[in-house]
Amino acid sequence: MRKLGILGGMSWESSAVYYRALNEGVRARKGGLASARLVMSSVEFSEIASMQAEGRWAEAAALLTQEARGLEAAGAEAIVLATNTMHKLAGEIEAAISVPFLHIADALAGEIQRKGSVKPLLLATRFTMEQPFYRDYLKTRHGIDTLVPDGAGRTDIHRIIYEELCRGIVSPASKARALEIAARAGGDGVIFGCTEIMLLLSAADFAVPTFDTTALHIAAALDFSLS
Ligand code: GLU
Repeated sequence: MRKLGILGGMSWESSAVYYRALNEGVRARKGGLASARLVMSSVEFSEIASMQAEGRWAEAAALLTQEARGLEAAGAEAIVLATNTMHKLAGEIEAAISVPFLHIADALAGEIQRKGSVKPLLLATRFTMEQPFYRDYLKTRHGIDTLVPDGAGRTDIHRIIYEELCRGIVSPASKARALEIAARAGGDGVIFGCTEIMLLLSAADFAVPTFDTTALHIAAALDFSLS
């Protein structure tokens, strides 16, 4: 089993899911007492969130590349960055390490193609929905077009992520609002493009296929570790 390096804490609400699901996945595949081989570096999210909000991306890149190098030095054989938003810095992180970087959008793209969705809706932070790094990656690397909600919808999804989900708050009113935003935006699939969105929404909430980036990233990490 190859050792994974999880770069998390963004927020820890979803990193906890990564830790549990990676272990459950190894147990399901290998049986008995088998558990995941991993090291985790969990950052202080309020510092990261300030850097994001203030556009201090170079500082965030310096911090995350240092953490990724630390994971590699601790024996990680691949880096798993447990957040969609900070994949804005994937290039910088990848350049700083010599082990593979398991990009969350590669795991996502494979499933979108398997399910035959051609224009899924992306629900994510404003950074992920509005800046080019994520939607352009899906388009140029994988030929996948995505939709995003209207301005008011993007504002509300972003707020729900930072003010509720990343603080462990799951509200029925926010779930209703997220479903309303998704219904208004349309699309033939829904991307849970923030690693905390699965705390609020599930496949059962939609008539179209859903793509949970947290689950897909974890599955890709398991495949890497156990291959
Ligand atoms: N975990 C979230 C994501 O997947 C949002 C928090 C962050 O900015 O990292 O984008």
